[in-house]
Amino acid sequence: MLKKTLGAMATVLALGSILSASVQATAVEGFDTTQHSLTAANSPWVLVNKKNPLNPKNYVPANLVTPKQFNGGGLRLAKPAADAFLKLALAGKAAGAGSISIASGYRSFTRQVAVHAEDVKKFGVVAGEKLAARPGFSEHQTGLAVDVWAPSQGCRIRVCFATTKAGKWLKTNAWKYGFIIRYPDGSYPTTGYQFEPWHIRFVGVELTTEMHARGITILEKFWDYPAAPKY
Ligand SMILES: [Zn+2]
Repeated sequence: MLKKTLGAMATVLALGSILSASVQATAVEGFDTTQHSLTAANSPWVLVNKKNPLNPKNYVPANLVTPKQFNGGGLRLAKPAADAFLKLALAGKAAGAGSISIASGYRSFTRQVAVHAEDVKKFGVVAGEKLAARPGFSEHQTGLAVDVWAPSQGCRIRVCFATTKAGKWLKTNAWKYGFIIRYPDGSYPTTGYQFEPWHIRFVGVELTTEMHARGITILEKFWDYPAAPKY
């Protein structure tokens, strides 16, 4: 009886150490959800949507640079996004996806006033605001978002970009360079934006790798944030 009890205890103890060893291994190798802020405007993980404006609303990134390649318009991006974008564009070109280039990068609060007004005038408030954010609510103001296109393939800032060689390659490969397609098809009820296959957002390769592994494509869902279809 004693022998049996001791045997059972040994089994429990052994199991316990296996369990704690595996918990420890997960903690060491696992994804650290606290490594960046979700609210600081200069964080690679900042979550900006219709319920979460930039703080301050007139935020200007301190690290804007003008990529020299794949950037016909001399547009600016925040340095980490610019470095990652160059790797992405070079890889896309090497893979035969064409010259994936910047159609829109960093936009200031003031510039966003004009972009928002233009889309609302063109499409009306409801459809216009599914495309263009109000100033202070745009990812483009972080310098981490890029609207891309391949000039020889057309479909600039249009849903048909998804059917171009560049659009298809981007959908499969953007995560390898730390970018997500921020507003995937059907994500409007969560993100508040229509399908924008051209709008990629830099969040860093640690996060995109985790999202990819878990099969989650929408930032709000990954972080368990409330849906933000409206302001
Ligand atoms: Zn965009």
